[in-house]
Amino acid sequence: MQTYLVGGAVRDELLGLTVKDRDWVVVGATPKQMLALGFTQVGSDFPVFLHPKTREEYALARTERKQGHGYHGFSVYSAPDVTLEEDLLRRDLTINAMARSEDGELTDPFNGMRDLEARQLRHVSDAFKEDPLRILRTARFAARFQPLGFSVCSETMALMRDMVAAGEVGHLVPERVWQEIQRALHEQSPTTFFQVLRDCGALDVLIPELSPEPRFRAALSALRLAHAGKATTPERFAALFSTLDEPCGTKRAKALKAPNDCQNLARLAMAFKPIIQQLDPTQPDAKTLLELLEKADLWRRPERFSQLVLVLECALEATDQQRLKPLEKAADAASGIDPQALMKRGFAGKELGEAIRAERLARIKQALCRSSS
Ligand code: ATP
Repeated sequence: MQTYLVGGAVRDELLGLTVKDRDWVVVGATPKQMLALGFTQVGSDFPVFLHPKTREEYALARTERKQGHGYHGFSVYSAPDVTLEEDLLRRDLTINAMARSEDGELTDPFNGMRDLEARQLRHVSDAFKEDPLRILRTARFAARFQPLGFSVCSETMALMRDMVAAGEVGHLVPERVWQEIQRALHEQSPTTFFQVLRDCGALDVLIPELSPEPRFRAALSALRLAHAGKATTPERFAALFSTLDEPCGTKRAKALKAPNDCQNLARLAMAFKPIIQQLDPTQPDAKTLLELLEKADLWRRPERFSQLVLVLECALEATDQQRLKPLEKAADAASGIDPQALMKRGFAGKELGEAIRAERLARIKQALCRSSS
């Protein structure tokens, strides 16, 4: 029985980065032997075990064969005679397909080290095309390592284009797509993720509304600003979607199965952006804004109101920023309510809720009127 450190941990170690999760591959063992050593099995599909002390994942070496469409059409073959090289062959990128033995020896059958030095994201083998999720993973690694100078090599980009043209991306379930998008939104260069997806054609399948210029540039610029401002996931997602038309964008966010807070904030950003762009900052149309605020029920949730302002700050052109002033003031006014003070005045329960709502509304009206006078 031999144990090897594999995948991201070896890659990050060689890049001099902090290693967070360590995954191991065990060659020459059976599930029975692992259980006898005190490991516990996790999941039933793959032969993966948890170390009794460290709780790190130990997977028995395995090979995979594609049977159907999408990422789940695989049959897994695991047996003590599956070699380390066979296990590494099923991995996505060469930089993720290296292993280190317990005595420190590197196994690198696909030249991962060469690609690491050349800053290239390259597929391990033609088997890459069997799993469309690898397109999103590659785009995500491009987003993570772009600041270190990495890019997708031309052969892998060509393969990804072929996969998209063959219709593979359409077979991905929304949950997996969202999982990758959500992670990508927090990588070092989130815009690179969407750029790579666009370059290979996957964006036209996953979020086609985002692809045409100049909308795409504007979306990336908003996302870049949200990232620089260390925005939350809903704020980043809403910044990206802020350039879309409300009905289409709302439908797409739902189809992606984005969580409700992301969908709601994106919908608000899409609804408010065109109205703010029309607003005269010296004489804001307080009535229209109020109607919209009421429709969006924003005074019930001042925190969402502030999030919206932040997203719009990222989404609006520099020349339009001043048009946001009335909304900023209204958001400040809405959040400046102290429920404790109202409670001291004797409000409680449903009445307290109503009082908060009425006071917020009054303050917002006041703030909007002040802006227009
Ligand atoms: P991260 O730092 O994001 O955790 P990671 O490389 O450790 O990066 P994981 O998703 O934890 O990524 O996967 C561990 C390893 O398993 C990868 O390095 C890669 O070798 C392999 N892998 C994971 N998913 C796939 C996939 N869909 N196709 C091929 N190989 C994969």
